[in-house]
Amino acid sequence: MGCIEPFHRGSSDQTAPVASSCYPGNPFDSPEKCTSVQDKWSYAALHAAWPESIDFPIYTNNSCVPKGATGYVGGKGCSIGGLPQYIVNATTVEHVSTGAFALSIWTRNFKHIERRHAWQWPGRNETDDVVVCGSGNNWGSVYTAVHRMRRTVVGGEDATVGLGGLIQNGGHGFLSSHHGLASDQVYQVTVVTTDGRCLVANSVENKGLFWAVRGGGGGQYGVVMEFILKTHPVPANVVMGGFSFYAADSSNTSETASWNALSEVVSSIPDLMDGGLNGNITAYTKTRSMALGLKEAPPGVAAVIGFVGLNMTIDQLLVFCKPEPLSSNSAGAVSLMTSRLMGRRELSDIARNDLTEYLQQALVSENPEAGTMLLFGLQGGRGPAHVPTHMRGSVLSAWRTAYAHVFTLGASINTTSDASESLSAAADHINFMKALFPFHSFAQTLTIYKIYQ
Ligand SMILES: Cc1cc2nc3c(=O)[nH]c(=O)nc-3n(C[C@H](O)[C@H](O)[C@H](O)COP(=O)(O)OP(=O)(O)OC[C@H]3O[C@@H](n4cnc5c(N)ncnc54)[C@H](O)[C@@H]3O)c2cc1C
Repeated sequence: MGCIEPFHRGSSDQTAPVASSCYPGNPFDSPEKCTSVQDKWSYAALHAAWPESIDFPIYTNNSCVPKGATGYVGGKGCSIGGLPQYIVNATTVEHVSTGAFALSIWTRNFKHIERRHAWQWPGRNETDDVVVCGSGNNWGSVYTAVHRMRRTVVGGEDATVGLGGLIQNGGHGFLSSHHGLASDQVYQVTVVTTDGRCLVANSVENKGLFWAVRGGGGGQYGVVMEFILKTHPVPANVVMGGFSFYAADSSNTSETASWNALSEVVSSIPDLMDGGLNGNITAYTKTRSMALGLKEAPPGVAAVIGFVGLNMTIDQLLVFCKPEPLSSNSAGAVSLMTSRLMGRRELSDIARNDLTEYLQQALVSENPEAGTMLLFGLQGGRGPAHVPTHMRGSVLSAWRTAYAHVFTLGASINTTSDASESLSAAADHINFMKALFPFHSFAQTLTIYKIYQ
């Protein structure tokens, strides 16, 4: 295309790992002060602000990690490792070209967000209220902008996640159980394809591409430059509440009671969600249970349940639970997750003893003392189930009957040895656990790995 500009940062047009400033004399010499890098390392916002940086450095073979951070190995130094060699700082669609291996295209400049009150549906005698969003936006910038418009959109739960990856992978969040997935809200995209063409895709033009980018995965079909997204009215109110539980003492009775309590809550998920709730249910075992603020790990299972209700009164929410706030997350650490979508069949229509046994197996970790975590994200239910067929793209069809997006940890990852070998060993453990059974027979609908914190 001839329009590619290398990313200029001072005298350098090459990648400069942000933590290189923590290595005196390192030739990359990132302009971000080392103290600032160390302070902000666990925040996704730091990595989002640097085009080459990523939240989970194990995927760069921990090649430039500040002292004290997960994955730091003394004497290893700082190199580019798995980071891209060059960055294209794209500011117009002409700057987006076919990306060869190790070439990164930074789309952060495409930040426009415009509301169209009556956007004309292509080929239909219908209009709808939409926002036209450049793909350089993240959910934080979009939520802030649409809030000012007294509207809202379906996106993810973390402000620093981008539209490009989340929408093309489906996308679940607080509003998905009401309105469907993020990919179900897309009316039109503008895509620069791998052969360099800039195409508009919607329900009339380039229909195959339009279908594919709504769930087929990021970076698969070209670079999406712009999304046109359906907006929704802001809920009249949002109420939040929750509770937690753990075994009262070390007796067998208390341990059994804690497992029974978890089964009871999990089997109620479909009914609670049909009643209008979403939120998260997180179960912990062994030392992980100390996340509840306990001095010692209790036997059995401990759980934190946080519910969110839209257009609901506090009294209506209290039918389900008592108040307690939800929490957030961070970058910079590492663990390997496996996740599944679960519907009424897996959660409620199963013998309670079987459910308890499955939950116990899913909460076994590779390191028996460390324990693990199992999280039920209540992001499916009525929303995805009721999305009209013409709004459904290529996203996994299991979302239409799923209530919960469930993920678990369990594998131990050696953060100071070779990253590829560590991840491979962790994946082996998860595959072994799968074969052993928990999720395999519990929920067959989805097998993916995911890295979070
Ligand atoms: C802290 C955190 C919280 C999360 N919370 C949620 C959540 O609540 N709900 C949820 O559904 N998911 C969530 N996720 C998962 C998230 O949706 C995926 O990690 C997603 O791929 C991130 O997209 P991104 O654009 O920010 O990331 P990137 O790493 O930039 O992109 C991911 C992939 O998509 C491609 N891509 C990105 N932009 C474009 C574009 N414009 N055109 C073409 N390809 C593109 C990239 O090349 C890459 O292959 C979370 C992830 C993290 C780290």
